Amino acid sequence: MEQIWYVFKGNELLVCHSSEARLPTTRDIEVISDKFLKKGAFFIGDRMADEKSNEFWAEIPHDIDLPSGMISVGLREVGSLLGEQVFYRAARAYQLMNWSERYVFCMACGDRLRPSSIDNGKICPSCGAVFYPPVTPAVIVAIEKDGKLLLARNANFPPTRYSIIAGFVEPGESFEDAVRREVKEEVSIEVKDIKYFGSQPWPFPHSIMVGFTAKWSSGELKPDGREILDAGWFSADAMPDLPPGVSIARKLIDDFRRSHGVEL
Ligand SMILES: [Zn+2]
Repeated sequence: MEQIWYVFKGNELLVCHSSEARLPTTRDIEVISDKFLKKGAFFIGDRMADEKSNEFWAEIPHDIDLPSGMISVGLREVGSLLGEQVFYRAARAYQLMNWSERYVFCMACGDRLRPSSIDNGKICPSCGAVFYPPVTPAVIVAIEKDGKLLLARNANFPPTRYSIIAGFVEPGESFEDAVRREVKEEVSIEVKDIKYFGSQPWPFPHSIMVGFTAKWSSGELKPDGREILDAGWFSADAMPDLPPGVSIARKLIDDFRRSHGVEL
């Protein structure tokens, strides 16, 4: 079995695109392997035991010339180019690479950490503390009222973009609590019938987005004016500029459109 490499140039991933787009193998990246700044392997289930089926990450300098037939693509574009599963793997490689580079010393005693031999964690040889890469949960929710979907314009979005409400989970909150709080804070309404939809790892920088649907329960829409600049109820067949690609935001929005008669 060929070894697969997730090679990053900044936050872009190297992809072979000669005939069809695919991830590079050891042979493809041989000519630049002496330029690697860092490299490592990561666990996929218990597959670390099988050397031949390992998948590897590596980082190359920004100014390097790529081998012919290779391009670098933004991590956000990987899903539309190579499919959702490759995006998830690349996300995992990227997060583990960044974590492994930044977390070098024990936070309890300061000794240099060693990689665990059984998982993606690191162990302190002096005090025995174990550290794992962080994963930060965030909730995202599609809210319906009278057959229309709530879409809002976040201050950080491109000028015409609208999406659904999202936010990080705080300590002591359930996902449902976080949905209720974020919606109340950002657009001042109450929701009910919160139902799980699905989840998606999001490596910017290390989130997992947990998606829900909900129904409007009470209150008038009032954007907070800080994070949310505008918000409104939109019909399935009259949507504004939406988030592209494989994001769970888009999946929730498309699910709403489909269930309201729009063919996609
Ligand atoms: Zn320690």
